[in-house]
Amino acid sequence: MPEAPLLQVTDLVKHFPLGGGVLARPHAWVQAVNGVSFTVGRGESFGLVGESGCGKTTVGRMVLRLIEPTDGRIEFDGLDILRMSHREFTGMRRRMQIIFQDPYSSLDPRMTVEQIVSEPLRVDRRIGRRERSDIAAGLLDKVGLRAADLDKFPHEFSGGQRQRIGIARALCARPELIVADEPVSALDVSIQAQVINLLQDLQQEFGLSYIFISHDLSVVEHICSRIAVMYLGSIVELASAERFSSEPRHPYTAALLTAVPLPDPHHPNTAMPLEGDVPNPIDPPSGCPFHPRCRYVFDRCPIEKPPLVSAADGHLVACWLNDGRGLE
Ligand code: SF4
Repeated sequence: MPEAPLLQVTDLVKHFPLGGGVLARPHAWVQAVNGVSFTVGRGESFGLVGESGCGKTTVGRMVLRLIEPTDGRIEFDGLDILRMSHREFTGMRRRMQIIFQDPYSSLDPRMTVEQIVSEPLRVDRRIGRRERSDIAAGLLDKVGLRAADLDKFPHEFSGGQRQRIGIARALCARPELIVADEPVSALDVSIQAQVINLLQDLQQEFGLSYIFISHDLSVVEHICSRIAVMYLGSIVELASAERFSSEPRHPYTAALLTAVPLPDPHHPNTAMPLEGDVPNPIDPPSGCPFHPRCRYVFDRCPIEKPPLVSAADGHLVACWLNDGRGLE
């Protein structure tokens, strides 16, 4: 029997109200996430990719209940976390942590590194100050910093070092799942590879599962075994990382791949680059949400929204071209 996934997300929806108040109705709704479903296995890295505003960060935050969903179901280790009371979820929350994008704003400048890293343990009264300090020192060593750094403040570190502090904080509660929200996009290119390698090493050592959120498909391809591409609040393609690079099936994915440099100069990337802006999620296009930007658009596309269906073994696509014609 196949192992049950660590995380199962089903038909997740988030619509944010605009305007209104206690007595007044909102005058519009931002349709940030529209029925997203996926699973994350134990020890798996699952990528969520898309342009800014596609809803990927909102999905990551809903998984941790930092944002409450409008609808849908989230099961972690077989438990429906949206039905849990605040108290029940507080115990569960230690098993799910987040690494934020910006290593400058995500660390409290008034706290020492020791206080920051050991913060998730503060709620556990069984762990005394000395033990917290020892755990924090051990975690700094794991992420390539020194125990001597415990008494320093965030401003004394570079961007890459701060992100390592954020990673140590996320590891402190011994989580099983980490949502890494654009964890390297604020870093210099030379530092990005170091942090990605660190995340991979830690995954091996601790058996972690990742939801790796990024706008950069090349970063996600490097670290993730399966990837979902989001567009305007929906998943439009979901497949293994190998299939993404060898056989993208959705025109949006193909366009995203044009931004990824290919290692073989004899096989240049021939897909068309992406043009135009992401439509307004307050008033999304009818039918296929990608149709105003799609070079393959035909008469059915603006009328009916294509469902996310299987195109091949484990490869899901939401496009009316998924009828064998393929992308040319
Ligand atoms: Fe393009 Fe139509 Fe496919 Fe949408 S359904 S991606 S508009 S071809």
